[in-house]
Amino acid sequence: MGLTHTYDVVIVGAGPAGMCAALYTGRSMLKTAVLERGIPGGELLNTEKLDDWIGEKSILGWELAKKFEEHSREFGAEYVTANVTRVTRREDGMFDTVTDGDDVYRSPAVIVTAGGTPVKLGIPGEMEFSGKGVSYCAICDGAFFKQQVIVVIGGGDAAVEEADFLTRYASKVYVIHRRDEFRASRILQERLRANPKVEVLWSTVPEEIVGDGQGLMSGIVLRNVKTDAVRTLDATGCFVFVGFRPNTGIIDAHFDHDDMGYVLTDTTMQTSIKGLFAAGDLRSQLTRQVTTAVGDATTAAIGVEKYLKARAEGGHAIDPHGSGGYAV
Ligand code: NAP
Repeated sequence: MGLTHTYDVVIVGAGPAGMCAALYTGRSMLKTAVLERGIPGGELLNTEKLDDWIGEKSILGWELAKKFEEHSREFGAEYVTANVTRVTRREDGMFDTVTDGDDVYRSPAVIVTAGGTPVKLGIPGEMEFSGKGVSYCAICDGAFFKQQVIVVIGGGDAAVEEADFLTRYASKVYVIHRRDEFRASRILQERLRANPKVEVLWSTVPEEIVGDGQGLMSGIVLRNVKTDAVRTLDATGCFVFVGFRPNTGIIDAHFDHDDMGYVLTDTTMQTSIKGLFAAGDLRSQLTRQVTTAVGDATTAAIGVEKYLKARAEGGHAIDPHGSGGYAV
């Protein structure tokens, strides 16, 4: 049996969203615990370099993560290394955030910023060259591949749309798809077909990412599933879009979500479970960027502050801006 710890707010996950939420809840003098199973940083730690964090022309992912963590700690947030297994709303409206060590973090509000996980190919070299050629985010990393030959893996909307986008930078984009037709929507397919920089390799699967001997990706081994012919294609980048899964499994009750399982929130980032807020990659939204994650996290933290105030005053305070109210 573990221990029970009491906080004003518990934040699950220490990616950009979690750390930014912690900064704001700490700054609002709320006793804050941030539960993270690994090193704080989230997807920033899978990102080599960023050139779209406003104010920094170029910054390494781990460097920005470190800055976020240090800054958020300034306002008193406590970081705990713990693997959260479930978040349960109790009958009294409090939440129990439970770790795999059976410790309970009890709080009247929780912000879930557990992110999501791009589906991996699971082939040799994929992890070794992650951030050194292999990427799961075109907007984040596309600009690093100017005038280079790259491949995109997948045949869904994400792969087809991002392949088209990546031709802004790359000199040539090969789309590698395991079948002989895309599942992507027709309009995206047509746009791709009209793009002279794109060549589709149908019925082809990636088998291995290979390197240049100096730590960077230099090619990809491909197999045609119809002929079994194997060849190595020279390419310095490989963008993988074979699906993305939001990490929502810890939420221990029904919550409103979109068709893909991403959490729906109101404009204060509150989910359909009162007192449970969400920000970052697991939230249903147009794009998944560091800038949007921290923006949503700011809103969530301020939303929590207002929610707790309303709760302390007996509930039913209405947000003057009409963003859903705080009936607790
Ligand atoms: P998705 O629709 O599930 O497509 C995944 C693609 O990856 C499929 O083509 C699949 O091939 C392929 N794939 C899966 N595992 C693979 C493996 N191990 N090796 C090689 N290929 C593999 O995922 P998504 O493209 O990320 O889209 C997710 C959702 O977001 C979809 O509902 C999509 O409509 C939506 N979305 C919409 C837009 C837009 O409307 N602009 C943009 C992005 C995403 P098969 O086809 O053979 O199964």
